[in-house]
Amino acid sequence: MRILLKTLFIILFLSHSEVFSKSSEEYIELEHQVLAPNYNPLPVVLQRGKGVWLWDVEGKKYLDMMSAYSAVSHGHANERILRALRQQANRLNVTSRAYCNDQLSPMMEKLCQLSGMDRGLPMNTGAEAVETAIKAARRWGHHVKGIPENKAEIIVAKNNFHGRTTTIISFSSSKKNRDGFGPFTPGFVSVPFGNIHALRAAITPNTAAVILEPIQGEAGIQLPPKGYLKKVQKLCRKNNVLFILDEVQSGLGRTGKMFAFQHYCQKPDGLILGKALGGGVLPVSAFLGTEELMTVFTPGSHGSTFGGNALAAAVAHEALKVLEEEFLPERSAKLGGYLLKELQKIDSPVIKGVHGIGLWIGIDVNTDIISARELIERLMDRGLLTKETHDKTIRIAPPLTITHDELDYGIQIIKDVLEEIELQVML
Ligand code: PLP
Repeated sequence: MRILLKTLFIILFLSHSEVFSKSSEEYIELEHQVLAPNYNPLPVVLQRGKGVWLWDVEGKKYLDMMSAYSAVSHGHANERILRALRQQANRLNVTSRAYCNDQLSPMMEKLCQLSGMDRGLPMNTGAEAVETAIKAARRWGHHVKGIPENKAEIIVAKNNFHGRTTTIISFSSSKKNRDGFGPFTPGFVSVPFGNIHALRAAITPNTAAVILEPIQGEAGIQLPPKGYLKKVQKLCRKNNVLFILDEVQSGLGRTGKMFAFQHYCQKPDGLILGKALGGGVLPVSAFLGTEELMTVFTPGSHGSTFGGNALAAAVAHEALKVLEEEFLPERSAKLGGYLLKELQKIDSPVIKGVHGIGLWIGIDVNTDIISARELIERLMDRGLLTKETHDKTIRIAPPLTITHDELDYGIQIIKDVLEEIELQVML
């Protein structure tokens, strides 16, 4: 009897320990059973992350060269951010904005100081911050510019990506993003990114704003043509149109400056931020703008239960301090320049082109030889995590904390895999 009880105890103990945790295949199978199939993830099941490294449930180590689309710019489990998270979690977390808390306004003051904006409105996800920008622009158009009610128009760029809400996909040019989700929100005019003549022609007396990503991320890290954003800004000023930039992905150091606009033009009238603002641990986003724009909001006109909660604000504040004090934008400029040069030096028939800025680089793949998806799966097998976009470009965006040696390690894997493919093609 005692032996039986002991055996039962051991089985019970082991079944709750790592020894009996599921395999990658089992987790993937479970995901197929219980999750809506709105993603097609790489077949890797991650369990742990530290700095630029990730480990799967079998303990295999990967170099993260994607950093959750820039959300993990500070690296996984950044010590300073985790400390701020723990300290604040023990003190105060969520109270809603029915009350003030002692974390939100100091964080927003810091964000305003860094961006040159006057005021900010905190939200959670990037899409919510984009929605906030749209509401601000429309209300400014109707209340300040004098556009007749419900007539405000917003100009956007083709191939944009601003998120997934019904209003945002209303101005997406991606069929995949829109199919079956209509009816769509009216009031948006789409012009080709980089074409100043098309944009000029699209402006009417009812245009309230132009909303652009300064660099189109999802479209394959497409940089704006020289002088484009400066000309757009000038055109906006001349026509009393708001110039709003979505820096959810490009902002907070990714491109080698704190904000991508600093490469190209003066500060915009409105700035949308997210991803890295959460320090890689929480969803935190914000819409910032000029005094005139932000004060169109009145009590009750907009909000979010979780937006601006004390925990999120403390984490975002620390995330901003880490970026500034540890010179992460400068690091991104230096290491990104090196990465770009090294990748451009690779002579492979698989590569059609390499482009980017800071630690944000797109590799265009010759899909006659291999699809971008197949290539990232090959890289994954060798311990490097990246992500394809539009099946022809591979996105390289490691945490900004990456070291030179870690970067070299990643570059070598890319070279090895490309060589392997080339050899196979030649055979
Ligand atoms: N805007 C841009 C430029 C983005 O890249 C994204 C997400 O990739 C979003 C908005 C939406 O952010 P979220 O996924 O947090 O809603």
